[in-house]
Amino acid sequence: MRGRSASSLRPELHERSILTHFTDLGLPAPILKALAAESYDTPTPIQAQAIPHLLKGSDLLGVAQTGTGKTAAFALPMLTHLNKINRQAGPRACRALILAPTRELASQIQASFATYGKYLRVTSTVIFGGVPIGKQIRAVANGIDVVVATPGRLLDLLDQRAIILNEVELFVLDEADRMLDMGFVRDIKRILTKLPTRRQTMFFSATMPKEIADLAGSMLTDPVQVAVTPVASTVDRIEQRVIFCPARQKQAVLHKLLESDQIERAVVFSRTKHGADRIAKHLAAAGIPADAIHGNKSQGQRERAMAAFRSGKSRLLIATDIAARGIDVDGVTHVINFDLPNIAESYVHRIGRTARAGADGSAISLVADDERPFLRDIERLIRRRIDVLPLPEGLAVLPVLVEAERVEQPRGQRPPRRFNGSQGERGAVGRNAASPTAPRPARPPGNGPRRADGAQRARFQGR
Ligand code: AMP
Repeated sequence: MRGRSASSLRPELHERSILTHFTDLGLPAPILKALAAESYDTPTPIQAQAIPHLLKGSDLLGVAQTGTGKTAAFALPMLTHLNKINRQAGPRACRALILAPTRELASQIQASFATYGKYLRVTSTVIFGGVPIGKQIRAVANGIDVVVATPGRLLDLLDQRAIILNEVELFVLDEADRMLDMGFVRDIKRILTKLPTRRQTMFFSATMPKEIADLAGSMLTDPVQVAVTPVASTVDRIEQRVIFCPARQKQAVLHKLLESDQIERAVVFSRTKHGADRIAKHLAAAGIPADAIHGNKSQGQRERAMAAFRSGKSRLLIATDIAARGIDVDGVTHVINFDLPNIAESYVHRIGRTARAGADGSAISLVADDERPFLRDIERLIRRRIDVLPLPEGLAVLPVLVEAERVEQPRGQRPPRRFNGSQGERGAVGRNAASPTAPRPARPPGNGPRRADGAQRARFQGR
């Protein structure tokens, strides 16, 4: 068996590297030229830490989330190796295999290989489900250097003997924790049996629970361990806030938030596919164009939505956790959590869509009463209290009352601020009140919820 348990992995490289330029890392000139063309000049910490070891052929265990530059951290040394030991893969074979959990992420990784390798003669393709298989079979028929694949479709090709993996020299498992969440572990273990034991393996995961550490331990040999931006510290540059409101008011709150011109480009998260569709539909009815991407959308629809978002044609993307996994679009100013994820780590992944590549970002979560336990989990994970914003101006505070109270209490005596009670406890954030994205305190209670919602709807329809 290869490797040993992750708990006995070499603990090193936790300090920041003193290497501050790509030219210090030992990368060949054509790659440096491609990086210069992308205006990359300083390696990110994971790049500075991992690349020298990967160039020497070590296995790597990388604890890093997207947004840290991890793709280049593995792609650059892989391209260097493929270019240096220049050989043609045999028919149906590939020299490097990267497994990614989603089609979007797989496509982005392959695009990175194409970008960083544009002055090299390294060939690459991407393999994922939901599109005809024929083109993918043809792409690998004569042998290819790099295959980036999602596990399910790769297994289809393997079962059809359209691809063989016995020439793989370099293997990457990206976003292992997400693979686990998506139930890919059995597929991965099957794929592993097809790989040569002599290979260089790079394993990346944003989190390292025991199950992932065990998987890593079973695949890696004496790996170098690199950990950057541990989940607990989140992405510190992101301003995180919550707005407490009942579920039935969330759409109105979202509309209000989107009126702000500070929100240049936002990803709105929904826990479910239906929820994402519902949000998009309500926004469309209000004259706010937004596409939803999730697993029920065709590849074409997803690609069109991503292209519109990337180009700035649409400033909003509604996404589920899994669909958003690979979203790598610079300039996302806001992440809006229409609802909170029930897995705290997903919150970190979600908000990581903003504040990419050194930019600042803002995350606003709409939290209904029954989501408070999720919020507690998240705050425990990120080890910080998330500031509370008042409702956007113009929205009435809706009471949250259990049925029994509704019956027992005469209308006029309801405690209308009840759902906001914890705002008092936790303190709304005054400094944000002047910003349109951080709306001013709500009007005093008194306007019935219906009236406020109705007025809101009428305004949006009129736009
Ligand atoms: P990743 O974590 O691989 O998803 O990368 C996050 C983003 O950072 C991508 O948009 C990359 O193009 C960008 N990026 C990666 N490395 C660098 C770098 N050294 N300098 C500037 N941008 C980078």
